Amino acid sequence: MGEASGLHHECGVFGIVGDPDAARIAYLGMHALQHRGQDGAGIVARQDGALVEHRGEGLVHEVFDEAALRALPGDSAIGHVRYGTMGGPGLQNVQPFLARWRQGQLAVAHNGTLTNAGPLREELEERGAIFTRSSDTEVLLHLVATSEQKTLMNRLIEAFNRVEGAWCALVLAGDTLVAARDPWGFRPLVLGRRGTAWVVASESAAIEFVQGTVVREIEPGELLIIDEDGPQSLRPFARRPRRACIFEAIYFARPDSTVFGVDVYAARVRLGERLAQRYPTRADVVIPVPDSGSPAALGFAQTAGIPFGMGLLRSHYVGRTFIEPTQRIRDFGVRLKLQPNRSVVAGKRVVVVDDSIVRGTTAQKIVRMLRAAGAVEVHLRIASPPMTGPCHYGIDTPERGDLVAHRLDLPRIRQFLDADSVAYLEIEDVREAMGGDGSRFCDACFTGNYPVEPMPRRGDAQVPLFRPRGEG
Ligand code: AMP
Repeated sequence: MGEASGLHHECGVFGIVGDPDAARIAYLGMHALQHRGQDGAGIVARQDGALVEHRGEGLVHEVFDEAALRALPGDSAIGHVRYGTMGGPGLQNVQPFLARWRQGQLAVAHNGTLTNAGPLREELEERGAIFTRSSDTEVLLHLVATSEQKTLMNRLIEAFNRVEGAWCALVLAGDTLVAARDPWGFRPLVLGRRGTAWVVASESAAIEFVQGTVVREIEPGELLIIDEDGPQSLRPFARRPRRACIFEAIYFARPDSTVFGVDVYAARVRLGERLAQRYPTRADVVIPVPDSGSPAALGFAQTAGIPFGMGLLRSHYVGRTFIEPTQRIRDFGVRLKLQPNRSVVAGKRVVVVDDSIVRGTTAQKIVRMLRAAGAVEVHLRIASPPMTGPCHYGIDTPERGDLVAHRLDLPRIRQFLDADSVAYLEIEDVREAMGGDGSRFCDACFTGNYPVEPMPRRGDAQVPLFRPRGEG
């Protein structure tokens, strides 16, 4: 869902080496990653050793036109779609960041959140560094530039060794592209081929979208140096237990992607099947909250033997530039994005399936609008556990106090949402639906088991780690 709740996805990265249409392929790949960030988009391309950039605020197709792509010739490129979890809005925070330093040019595109960016930034500022952006990614550039190491590769490795938390980073410099993933493996990153070119992307669906084939996942703690001869793999970082973000599989990633070895669509259908087994209810129709709730709703309906219906219709045309209704007609709320379909729900006992509840505002409005459209009972089934904690690793969640499941217990959540019943999955069921070893996931937003504690700046420990609500 997304915009209606004021929450957004995080970021996506795409890189390509050895294709004469590098920037155009990156543009297409970023379009396939658009769900991961709608605030801004940028590409840095390389021709004859020089890096050229084009960045802008908005959707990929708003930022790039024919002229912009023509001005990005070359056989290698990196691209980024942004939703800022750290750093405010504005063009200066749109990636990739292109910097000039004494060894030449360097461009970085980063997905994730550096949990120690605050103290590192303070340390760099004490040494005289000047920051021009509020994004944590700029810290990486300064660490590379101020390193005592001789080669760029050693400087990069040193910089990555100093940052903590979640990062998938693409670096374009000289004649190579470097793709690196943090040792916990919070965010996904995959390697693929497109003809003779090499591609790297946050999600497998983006590689397939550009008619490439997925080669493999880039491993947690792996650094790939990719040039036209292919990738060279290094393991220069301290080992950590694997902690892939379970919420990628529940909500973020595209359903046609495979992340962390999980077939996202199939896993979401299994979550719905499990919900139907654990929390059955007598009903006439099962409806999804589109799009992210759809596979789980299908799984629920099939297992429960209840017809599936499109009881909520989603507008695909509510973009960033949509003019919000004035105060007098403001009560629209989530209806800008979702409309009830009276012919499916009127006079019916309805089961509504969504992937998650965060603040609870979407679910509350959905229940209200379904009742207004004639539903006689509304039962909510949520394909994840109650979300009780914020994410410190790159997913934009509100502060703990704004999470409805932190504030209220289940009976009160039901009351708050005015639903006839509400049921969430247990974390064990979610892990099982993902297959394999459940301990390979970070599920801190549901369990409170944070693998890395975020570190505030020493000077202002009270500054919120995340953007205040409403900004950006
Ligand atoms: P809320 O209204 O705050 O409870 O948000 C829950 C709705 O937003 C659900 O329909 C989810 O599909 C969707 N959602 C969950 N997490 C996020 C997120 N981090 N960013 C955007 N949308 C989200």
